[in-house]
Amino acid sequence: MSSRPTKHAQRYLVLVLLLLLGSGFLATSLVSYYASLNSIRSSIVETELPLTSDNVYSEIQKDLVRPILISSMMSRDTFVRDWVIDGEQDVAQMTRYLREVQEHYGAFTSFFVSDKSHLYYQAKGVLKSVRESEPRDVWYFRVRDMQEPYEINVDVDMANQDSLTFFINYKVFDYAGRFIGATGVGLTVDAVVKLIDDYQQRYDRSVYFVDTHGKIVLTGATGGPLGARVGQSLSEVQGLEELQAKLPQPQSGNFNYQEHGRSHFLNVRFIPELDWYLFVDKHEGGALAGIRQTLYLNLLICFVVTALVLTLVNLVLRRYQARIEALATTDSLTGLPNRRGFDLLANQALQEAQRERKPLAMLMIDLDNFKALNDTYGHLGGDEVLHGFALNLQGCLRQSDIICRWGGEEFIVLLKDTGSATAQQLAEKIRSQGEQGRYPFAGVNLQVNTSIGLTELHPGDSLHSLIARADRGLYRAKQSGRNRVCVEPAGATG
Ligand code: GH3
Ligand code: MG
Ligand code: MG
Repeated sequence: MSSRPTKHAQRYLVLVLLLLLGSGFLATSLVSYYASLNSIRSSIVETELPLTSDNVYSEIQKDLVRPILISSMMSRDTFVRDWVIDGEQDVAQMTRYLREVQEHYGAFTSFFVSDKSHLYYQAKGVLKSVRESEPRDVWYFRVRDMQEPYEINVDVDMANQDSLTFFINYKVFDYAGRFIGATGVGLTVDAVVKLIDDYQQRYDRSVYFVDTHGKIVLTGATGGPLGARVGQSLSEVQGLEELQAKLPQPQSGNFNYQEHGRSHFLNVRFIPELDWYLFVDKHEGGALAGIRQTLYLNLLICFVVTALVLTLVNLVLRRYQARIEALATTDSLTGLPNRRGFDLLANQALQEAQRERKPLAMLMIDLDNFKALNDTYGHLGGDEVLHGFALNLQGCLRQSDIICRWGGEEFIVLLKDTGSATAQQLAEKIRSQGEQGRYPFAGVNLQVNTSIGLTELHPGDSLHSLIARADRGLYRAKQSGRNRVCVEPAGATG
C-alpha cells in the first residue's frame, strides 16, 4: 500500500476543512459585522442626529421665542411710538422703559435706535449715536432697509463687554407706517453655545447653524465642522467639497457625504424663527471603531479555532495513518513484519552492508510437513505452532536482526554483520530449537521440524538474488530429507 495517495487525500481533507471552516467563520463574522454596521448607521440617522437636533432646537426656542415676542411688543408699544413722534423729549422716560423691559423679562440688554436722531438708547441712557460709516452700526442701516419686520443677529454687544449676543432687531413704524427706528432685546447665546459644545465634545458630532446663504452663523466655542469659524461660508471649508456638491443651498433633510475618506451623516432642519438651518453632523468613524474591533477579535478567535481544529485533525490523521501503515506492514498472527514490512527493512540493511562492506547472511526457514500438522490438528493448531515458533525464533536472534513471515509457514531472517560461520551456527541453533520446541494445543504438545536455506551476501547481490539463493538452499534442504540447514554459495545454480 503506497502512502502517497493517502497523504494527498489527507491534504485535500485538511484543505476542504480549512475552506469550510474559514468561509463559515468569515461569513458569520462579516454578516454580524454588517448587521451591527447597519443598526449603528440607522440609529445615527434615525435617532441620534434628530434627537440632538430636537434638543438644540428646543433650547433655541426657549432662548429666542420669548425675546422675539418681547421685541415685537416693544415695536408696537404706543409709548415708544408716541415718545418718538413727540420728539424724544425726556430721555429718562425711554431709559426707564428699556430698563423695565430688560429687568422684567430678564433680557441681557434692551435698546431703541431712533431714525430721526440716530441716538442709541438703552437701559442705562443714551449709549451713542449710530453712524453709517461705523462698521459696528451697519446692522441698524441694514434693518432700516430690509423688507422683513425683524431680524435676528448674532453680534458682539458693545454695551456688555462685547460678549456674543443674539439681537432681535425689530423695525418700529409710526401710525402712518413710516419707519421711525429699531428696537428689541439682546440675550447672550452662552446657553446655546454651551449646549452645542456639550454635544460636540461628548458625542463627537458637529452642531452649527447656517443661514440661507450657506454661511455659518453660530456654532460651539471650538468651531464648527473641521474647525470652521462663525462667518465662514460652508463652501470655504476645506474637506466639505462633497457636502457642498450635494447641498449647494441649505435645505432640510438627511444627507450622507464623505470627507477625507470618512463617512458623514448629516441632519439639517430649518428653524423658521431664525431663518437659519440647524446642521447636526456625525462621522461614523468613532461609532464604528468599536464594532470594527469586535470584528477583528471575532476573526482572530475564528482563526485560532480553525488553526486548532486543523492541527487536531492533522494529528489524528497522522496517528491513524501511522497505525494503518503499521498494520499494513505487520503480520497479525505472529506480530512479525510481513513481506511489505520486510522489503522496506531488508533493502535498507542490504544497502548498509554493501556500503560499509559488512557481511550479511540470510536464512530462509520453512516448517516441515506443516500441511500434515494442519490436517491432523486443524488450522487453529497450525496457527498455535506458527505463533509459538515465531516467538522462539525471535528469542534466538538479536534486536538488530530482521525477521519476517515470508509466506504461510515460511520465514526469512536477515543477520546483520554476520559471516557464514556464525550464521551457520545460528541456523543450526534455530533448527535444533525447532526440533525440541513444543507447542501445547488442545491437550497435546505439538512439535514441528524446520528446514533452512542459508546464504551470504555477495558483491553485486540484490535482495531478489539473495532471496532466490536462500530459497534454493531451502529447496535442497527439503530435497535432502528436511530438518536440516543447507548453505547455498554464490554462483550456485538451482
Ligand atoms: P514441506 O515440508 O514440503 O514444506 O511440506 P508442507 O506441508 O509444509 O508444505 P506445503 O507448502 O505444501 O504446505 C504448507 C501448508 O501451510 C499449507 C497451508 O494450508 C498451511 N498454511 C499456510 N498458512 C497458514 C496459516 O496461517 N495457518 C495455518 N494453520 N496453516 C497455514
Ligand atoms: Mg513446509
Ligand atoms: Mg512452505
